This record gives sequence, structure tokens and C-alpha cells, in this order.
Amino acid sequence: MAEVHLEKVVKKYGSLEVVHGIDLDIAHNEFVVLVGPSGCGKSTTLRMIAGLEGISGGNIWIGDRVVNDLPPRARNISMVFQNYALYPHMSVRENLGFSLKIAGKSAAEIDAAVDEAANILSLTPLMDRKPGALSGGQRQRVAMGRAIVRHPDVFLFDEPLSNLDAKLRTQMRVEIKKLHRKIKTTIIYVTHDQVEAMTLADRIVIMRNGHIEQQGTPLDVFTNPVNTFVATFIGSPP
Ligand code: ADP
Ligand code: MG
Repeated sequence: MAEVHLEKVVKKYGSLEVVHGIDLDIAHNEFVVLVGPSGCGKSTTLRMIAGLEGISGGNIWIGDRVVNDLPPRARNISMVFQNYALYPHMSVRENLGFSLKIAGKSAAEIDAAVDEAANILSLTPLMDRKPGALSGGQRQRVAMGRAIVRHPDVFLFDEPLSNLDAKLRTQMRVEIKKLHRKIKTTIIYVTHDQVEAMTLADRIVIMRNGHIEQQGTPLDVFTNPVNTFVATFIGSPP
């Protein structure tokens, strides 16, 4: 069974339809990248899966539940954004544990989950620092750590690396791949960057103007683009 299943999902803003009935199945532990030009509906699709936007038609399943009307906190997903806001006055440890604290977890549960996340993301030596004393890459690792302490079924990433310089972006791609191998979780990752999509994805889903143009393994799509748009976007050889 699919971990995440979209059936004819539509999004309208007023009378303007921006997502036109998308069908998409994402398997447990799969790393799927939604890629496409700016404005094609990637973030809107991700935000509908997260529950941050309502849907205008269709259905979304996570696991065996239809989640159309469930609020984000009831969906067991975690989302990492481009503008990851860490709390500047809190230490790394406090930043990592904050969502568990407000969820009413005990100090022992919080410590265990925070130590585990810190270990996975190599943050253990940085636990007492404030965000202001961290590098960009370290801050991004804390942002990911905050997402994994809650043991979500599904991770959603929306262009998490686009504010980083090229060198750091390459390093963080490696970190994200490592994270996926270590915690074996389902990831849906949005980017407009073809190289990022090709290097990270088990499967890439190419979007254009609110619909899916093609999906497949990076190699499939690269070697068998269905049309000129995909070929040009992915940079397939003619
Ligand atoms: P992407 O993430 O692929 O760049 P988006 O999902 O952000 O694209 O946007 C898809 C389309 O929906 C764009 O045309 C955008 O202008 C429009 N859009 C996004 N959010 C809103 C909103 N809150 N109100 C009206 N239109 C929106
Ligand atoms: Mg976007």
C-alpha cells in the first residue's frame, strides 16, 4: 500500500485553478522529488499534503487514512522549509526538544528523542550553542533534527537548500541522503534544481503548469523523456 496517495487532487485560489487533478502514489521509505519550473505548483502540492492548504477537490491518503480534513499536527508529517527559523534565544538542545515539550512529553522522553536526533545528525558537540554561533550547514542540520525528533511517517522538504552556497548545498545533499538511509523514512522533496532532483531521488516527478508531466527513476526520465519540455528541463541528450 502507498504511504502517501493523491487522487485527482485539485487546488484553486479563488477562481484560479493552480493544481489540476494530480494522481500520485508514494511508497513507504521512498525518496520522491517533485521538480519543475517556478510557479508550477510544487509547494502548493506539498502544502496540501502537509495540511497547510486545504484541497479544492480529490483525496489525500497518508497510510490508511483520508487526511483531507485533518489538521497538520494530526497527520504525523514533518516539514523542513527553505527559511528554517530556529529560536535564537534557545540552545540547540532546546530547539530540538521544543516541539516535544509543547506536545507535553516528559523530560526523559524529550532527552531520549533529542539525543537520538543529535546523534544521527552529528549535532552532539553543538548542543549548548545558540543558533547565532552555528554555521549555515549546522543550522540546517538543527532544522532537520527538529523535524526528526517527532518520528514522522513522512518528511516534507520545500527547497531546503536554496539559501545555501553551492559548496554547502552539495554537502547537505549528502547529509540528506545519509539521513534517509539511517532513519528509513518516506521523503517528499521539492526543488526547482534539476541536479538536486537527479542526485537525491529514487523517483522524480516532473511538474509543469499544475500537472505531472512525467515520473520515473532519474535514469528513466533522463534517457526516455516523454516530450521536449522534459528533455529540455532535465537536459537530456538530443
Ligand atoms: P512552485 O512551488 O512550483 O514555485 P507554487 O505552488 O508556489 O509553485 O505556486 C503555484 C501557483 O499558485 C503559482 O501560479 C502561484 O502564483 C499560485 N499561488 C500560490 N500560492 C497562492 C496564494 N496563496 N494565492 C493565490 N495564488 C497562489
Ligand atoms: Mg515553491
